[in-house]
Amino acid sequence: MAKYIKPLCKICRKYGIKLYLKGKRCESDKCAVDPRRGKVRLIRPKKMSEYGLQLREKNKVKIYYGVMERQFKRYFEIAKKHKGVTGEILLQLLERRLDNVIYKANFAYSRKMAKQLINHGHIIVNGKKNDRPGYLVEIGDVIQIKPTSKCIKMIKDCIEEYKTRPRCLWFKVDEDNLKIEILRYPDRSEVSIPVDEQLIINLYSK
Ligand code: SF4
Repeated sequence: MAKYIKPLCKICRKYGIKLYLKGKRCESDKCAVDPRRGKVRLIRPKKMSEYGLQLREKNKVKIYYGVMERQFKRYFEIAKKHKGVTGEILLQLLERRLDNVIYKANFAYSRKMAKQLINHGHIIVNGKKNDRPGYLVEIGDVIQIKPTSKCIKMIKDCIEEYKTRPRCLWFKVDEDNLKIEILRYPDRSEVSIPVDEQLIINLYSK
């Protein structure tokens, strides 16, 4: 997981969007960029060059998914080799990360916590322990919480607290058995972070 030394909410205020870096607080009206708080005090960006805008979009996506530069570049290289729109494929790859799926299934309060669950061996993919947060889920994969995991109560609490969040339609969640089944790959419209991915592609294509 990428480590940020700045206060996390300050990072969201800089980009003017929710990057969901603080778990439960991000869903509450205590969030520094939550519209329920009224006018949000943003950190105004300076007038930016084209290069500055490209860098800003890339960093925003990296922080949101919690990936380091080297990993991010690797996703770009994979996306470039696929048929289709490179920017969309890049975002699809990031969405398919195992830590993102665990978080979006409401099994963790944040991507950081999802990463910890995976690193500590609480996650089983297709019957085998998987401790790679960056594993890219495939159609038909079945993801489960280890039945003997000490985290089961905490995961159930998280599901209960996050039950009003919109559901992802590209995977099915069995909340009673703590099981996720991947039905298809996500569409561009299912990537919730507002980003102009073409700026990122232009940055790496220089
Ligand atoms: Fe802070 Fe809100 Fe960003 Fe979460 S989403 S880190 S609470 S500003």
